[in-house]
Amino acid sequence: MDFELSNEMKMLADMAYKFAVKEVEPVAQEADEKEKYTPEIRKKAGANGLIGCWISEEYGGSGVGFLGNAIITEQISRACMGIALNVTAATFGCENIHFYGSDEQKREYLPAICAGETVCAGAYTEPNAGTDVAGYKTRAVQDGDDYIISGNKMFITNGTVCDWMVVQAITDPDEKVHRSFSQFIVPADAPGITRTKIRGKLGIRASDTSEIALDGVRVPGKNLIGKRGAGFYQLMHFFDVTRAMVAAQGLGLSQACLDESVKYCKERTVFGKPLGSFQLTMQKLAEMWIRIEALRNMTYKACWLIDAGKPDYHLSAMAKYFSGQTAVFCANLALEIHGGYGYIEEYKVQKWYRDAKILELYEGTKEAEIMTLGKVLLSH
Ligand SMILES: Cc1cc2nc3c(=O)[nH]c(=O)nc-3n(C[C@H](O)[C@H](O)[C@H](O)COP(=O)(O)OP(=O)(O)OC[C@H]3O[C@@H](n4cnc5c(N)ncnc54)[C@H](O)[C@@H]3O)c2cc1C
Repeated sequence: MDFELSNEMKMLADMAYKFAVKEVEPVAQEADEKEKYTPEIRKKAGANGLIGCWISEEYGGSGVGFLGNAIITEQISRACMGIALNVTAATFGCENIHFYGSDEQKREYLPAICAGETVCAGAYTEPNAGTDVAGYKTRAVQDGDDYIISGNKMFITNGTVCDWMVVQAITDPDEKVHRSFSQFIVPADAPGITRTKIRGKLGIRASDTSEIALDGVRVPGKNLIGKRGAGFYQLMHFFDVTRAMVAAQGLGLSQACLDESVKYCKERTVFGKPLGSFQLTMQKLAEMWIRIEALRNMTYKACWLIDAGKPDYHLSAMAKYFSGQTAVFCANLALEIHGGYGYIEEYKVQKWYRDAKILELYEGTKEAEIMTLGKVLLSH
């Protein structure tokens, strides 16, 4: 066993963190306040090789795997989880193409995303079906060589800023439900698409979230990803990987909470002594550190196994669950440590407190992860 990160990974972490400090941190508060998506940062990140690094060099990435991507995600999330999403989730949906797409699709769509020039979105959730991924109603009806797609998608990250999206739709309603879905690449400007930005999110406000209506949207048959009827299984595979990436977001945010709290504990004086000298405060810091260390090990291991071709999807679900718990826990303690100052916008912890909650909601609610794990335990 070797828990040491390679020099390549350490350099990647260093580069991503320096990028976050220089490019992300100075604009994080304004982007949060104004709900401002940050295309200029995404473009710079692409130029620096920070987007889609898990994609092979042949298709524009740098081939450092999902561990490399988790490390980048962690480091940029230390500065701002919303802007980190604009960078690392510019590829959200590309995993479907990477795993199941044709060589032609990979060549056409992946390099521009890695370069930071274009953005994609993964349009799966619907207004009436989130956790119930077999309950989506969007239909794709074959018409000659084309498919015509109609339905509504909800809470889609990058929805109004993307160039194209991966849409999950029913192609074979007469098949068993798990064999009824397929996935399609849909250009964002195709006739019949209406995209509406959702404003007023609690956190990750720099990230674009949208509602998307598809009304008779025609796409050529060559836009089908993988096999017709295999969309449900392709989506499950997608989540098994992207959940490990969500775990990395929470890892970065939790680390930021700890770092900021340690700094504050040294600066702030209470009852004539530094705040950090009180055991009650030390306990808060130590408990944050313990959970972060456990989360880092879980997240890196889940990614390392994916890259080694031995994915442990239960571990990805555990890491994602634990990430949400850890981030919410750390953000709460960080805010408490900052006292009243933690509650006002001048201090970063109030933003992290708001940002953390999404980790327990998207890409599978915490309850969904627990249901997945519980079913596995009882199935033997
Ligand atoms: C900011 C943001 C970004 C997002 N980005 C994307 C994206 O890019 N692409 C995309 O497709 N989706 C995206 N989503 C959607 C997200 O994945 C869903 O919101 C999430 O899966 C939950 O679905 P829901 O909101 O429909 O809640 P529901 O499924 O209606 O669940 C409501 C509550 O019921 C619980 N629940 C559900 N079923 C059960 C059960 N069987 N037993 C017990 N409890 C249950 C849930 O855990 C939850 O607490 C995003 C959401 C947000 C808020």
